[in-house]
This record gives sequence, structure tokens and C-alpha cells, in this order.
Amino acid sequence: MISRETIEEILMRTDIQSLVGQYVTLKRAGSNLRGLCPFHSEKSPSFTVYPADNSFYCFGCGVGGDQISFAMRMEHLDYPDAIEFLAKRAGITIVETDNKRYSNEPKYDKARFYQMNVDAARFFNNYLFSSDPEARAALSYFTEKRQLTIATIKHFGLGFAPNSFDTFTRHMLAKGYTRDELVAAYLCRKHDEKGHVYDAFRNRVMFPVIDVAGNVIAFGGRVMDDSKPKYLNSSDTPVFKKSRNLFALNFAKQTCQDEIVLCEGYMDVIAMHAAGITNSVATLGTAITSEQARVLSRYTKRVIISYDADEAGRKAAQRALGLLEEVGLEVSVLSVPGAKDPDEYIKTFGVEKFKEVISGAKSKFDYKLDGVLGRYDISLPQDRIDALGEVEKMISQVYSAAERDVYIREVAAKFSVDFSSIRSDVDRIREKNAQKYKRDESKRVKESTVGYFDTVNPDYIKAPAVAKNEENVLGLLLLYPDHRKRVFTEGLLDADCFVTGLNKRVFEFLASAFASGDDHLVSINEVFTQDEVGRIMKMKTARLELSNDADSLMVSISSLKRSVENHSSGQTKTMDELARIIQRKQQENK
Ligand SMILES: [Zn+2]
Repeated sequence: MISRETIEEILMRTDIQSLVGQYVTLKRAGSNLRGLCPFHSEKSPSFTVYPADNSFYCFGCGVGGDQISFAMRMEHLDYPDAIEFLAKRAGITIVETDNKRYSNEPKYDKARFYQMNVDAARFFNNYLFSSDPEARAALSYFTEKRQLTIATIKHFGLGFAPNSFDTFTRHMLAKGYTRDELVAAYLCRKHDEKGHVYDAFRNRVMFPVIDVAGNVIAFGGRVMDDSKPKYLNSSDTPVFKKSRNLFALNFAKQTCQDEIVLCEGYMDVIAMHAAGITNSVATLGTAITSEQARVLSRYTKRVIISYDADEAGRKAAQRALGLLEEVGLEVSVLSVPGAKDPDEYIKTFGVEKFKEVISGAKSKFDYKLDGVLGRYDISLPQDRIDALGEVEKMISQVYSAAERDVYIREVAAKFSVDFSSIRSDVDRIREKNAQKYKRDESKRVKESTVGYFDTVNPDYIKAPAVAKNEENVLGLLLLYPDHRKRVFTEGLLDADCFVTGLNKRVFEFLASAFASGDDHLVSINEVFTQDEVGRIMKMKTARLELSNDADSLMVSISSLKRSVENHSSGQTKTMDELARIIQRKQQENK
């Protein structure tokens, strides 16, 4: 745990303007700054920085938040790492108040562990090219059986762990590492109570695991015959958490913005990278975890699951599909006909065929697009217009602006139509839909299940009038600490006044922040997901335009309370109606 004081200090010493300015060219716009959004592609700037309260918001794609949110998104970091990143930048040393995971263990120096792993990787790599006959067998396993080039072996830093009790251990002890350190790094195992240790990896080809910052953090070792276990992987160490890291993400992060191929084994990934498919990663000898899914969601939009073709692979893919969709990723599953895994497929049919299979793993949108294109002949003008109209309607149903842009770009190319004219059509359809929703509230509930779906606050659609009033009030509370003070000391509102899930949580968050004296809402990125933080920023910015005084607070509160009453009496009415219908049916049946 990092203390609130430390986080406050980091936020105070991190000027949003200079932080964002490192990545985005900002121009003054009134009291704010504006630039081209680094999170979605746009031609005119809608990304706005508010120096007054150190926040940002993009009116195009809805991302927003404070300095921590920006670092999380921009550097693909999770919350604690983003804090560490900003602390380093501001020259602040983080003092952890209570590190639960290792509190009972001796303190390890992370830098020393990274160095120890580098030394180990070098040892394994050098040994692979040594004259030991077993090392020669290992090398030919890579070059002949797996058909890897020496360049690929070097690129991945592959190695060989000798078939010996303690050759590796003696090498590392001579380098000055202690037995305790080697055991804690999962490189050695305890042999006896006297403290003797031996090599953890023996007679295995070695795959170093490298994190996105370039540190060697762990190893996987594979046997070359059928002995068990086939793979041996490092357990968690002070610098490695198996459930959070992915093999080859350090390479894939350059090319995986649009999509990433998720494999089961190291060898699949290496074969793909060697064949030029560099946007592929693997889990570390386990089924994918929700943490890994979240990590992936920070690097890419779409995951293509490419698991083994057997029953176990299919089951694992099903499970992965659920976890990945949960974090908002678009997912498709690859099938490799005629091969047991992607590695074998590439070897048998060649990489070009494999690339075809990958592009054949279509998204839901592409399936629908194909359906429309199948019904029209787009070389005929009228057909083209009709088809485009249908496709634009499809795109207008997509909630995320960034995702819409991706589809618009794809469709613009396919129909040879200007990007901006499709986008303005889509915007017009969305605007029309929004008005239609407004006109017909009761219908909206039913329609919410068919397409227009708010993934950040799914309850919005069930009570749009209330949600709007909720956001009005929350915007004021988020912007002005004085209003928070008034509302919470005088008890003007309680959580029951909030009907929609997200907004209720925001209110409860503000209440508990107030109770603990946290005026700067420092833990917002810890409590809410990045999409939710973006939504919260939207509430703030929307409210900036409106008047602010004691009256506007009271007016907003009373309209909220009124709309909540209307909403709940509306529900009661429906329940009454339902009861009457049931009664009538019962009488009819008599
Ligand atoms: Zn944006």
C-alpha cells in the first residue's frame, strides 16, 4: 500500500500540462489546452487538458481522468505501476506502508534480482552453444526439430540448462549471489536443511520471460523428449507474478495495437515471430487469468485465440473467450485445420496460409458486413448507396467512438467513400436515434437489449431521466469540494437517491472520500476502471459549462429527487398493471 500522502505529493508535483505535453502537442484554448487525442485517431483536436484541476478529457472517445489515469493509459500501466512511474518522474521515493505480499519475507533488492536473471539467461544461452554433447542435442532440437534460425534463438535469448546437479548453481555462487537469493528467484532448489541448493532447471531448453520494461523476470524450461513435466516454469518471485505476465509481450507490444494472437505455448509464439507474425504472445504454462486479460486490454483491441486443436485446447479457448470479453476486448477464435497447433500448421502449410487463417478469424462486425455485401452488388450505384446505408446503421449501433472509427475506416476503404462523410452520416443516425429514445422512454428499455448498450453504466438505459439528473448532481460534487462539504455535512442526499449502478458507486465514493478527509479524490483510479474514470470526467466537464452557485446545487438535487420519485412510481404502476393482468388471466381460466 502506498500512503495517500505520497499519492497526493505525486499528484501535486506532477503538472498535467507538462506530463501530457511529453506526448501531445497542446495549444491554448481559453483557460484550457487542446491537442490531438493520443488514444483515438482524429483530425481536429477534441482532447482537452484542464490545468486548473489537473485533469483531461477527450470529447471524441470519452477517455479522461487525472495524471494517474493519463499515465495508466499512455504507458499501459496498472494503478500501482502508474504511481511508481509518476513518482520516478517527479523524483519522489515511494515508501510502502504495508506490503502484504512480502511483509513476512526478507526484503529483496529488485534490481539485483533482474541482474541475477540476466546472468542466468546468459549462462543458459552460452551453454546452448557449448561443446557439451547434450547442449549440441539441445541446439539441434531448436535448429532441426523446431527449424529455428540462430538469429531467432538469439532474438529470444533461448538457452539450455545442463543435465547436472549444480553446474549452474556453482556458476551463480561464484558470481556472488547467495543461496537464499537463488532459491527466492526460483533458479535453485533447497537440497537439505544445511542450506545446500541445486539447479532448479536441469536438462531443459530454456525460454527467458522478459517484461515490457525489458527485464528478465522468469524462465520456462521444456524437456526435449516425452518425460514429465513437459514444461517447468518459474513460480512467483519478488520480481515475477505468473498470473500477470505474458511471454513475448515485450516484442509484441510494438505491433499489437489492433490485434494480438494469444497462444498456448512458447514454441507457437516463437514460430509466429520467426515467420513475421510479431503480434503474438503466450500465457506462462497456465490457463489465462483475469489479470492477464486486463493486461492485454491495455495493449490491444482484439484478441485472436490460437490454442491447440484438441479437446483441451477448445475448452481452454472457451474459458479464455469469457475472460477476455469481460474486460471489453473483441475476441475471435482461430481454428487451424489439419494441424495440432499453430506451430505445426506454419511448418506444414507455410506462413502465408497461416496469415489467411488469422484474417479468416472474423469479428462479429465483419461477419455482419459480409452479410450485407452478399445481398448487394456494390458496383451498381443504387446498390452501393443502399448497402452503405445499412452498414452505417450497423456502425451507429456501436457504443465506443474509437471502435466506430475503426469500422468507418474499414468501410470507407471498401466502398471508396470519404471517411468524414461516413462519419457524419453515422453521427446523424446516432443523433436521430438519441432523439427517438428521448421521445419513447418505455420502448427504450426493450431496445436496450438490441444494440444500443452503455457498457460503462448499463443501468443508464433503464432510467435515463434519473441518470441524467444523477450526473448533473455528481458533476457539481466532483467539481466543487464546497458542495461536497455541504451535501455530506447537512445530509442533503443519500445513496438511495441514486438509481443507476455506476452513479450510486460514484456517490458512495465521494461520501467515503469526504469522510476520510480526501479532498483531492486521490484513489479514484484505484476504485474505478479507466472507462469509468472517463465517464466521471465527462460528468465534470459537462457541468463546467453550467452555472454554479448554492442555488444550482439545490435545484439539481431537487430535480434528481423528483425524477427518482417519478421513476419508482412508474415502476409501481407497471407492477399494478401486471397484477391486474394476472388477475384477469386467472379469472378467464376459471
Ligand atoms: Zn480521444
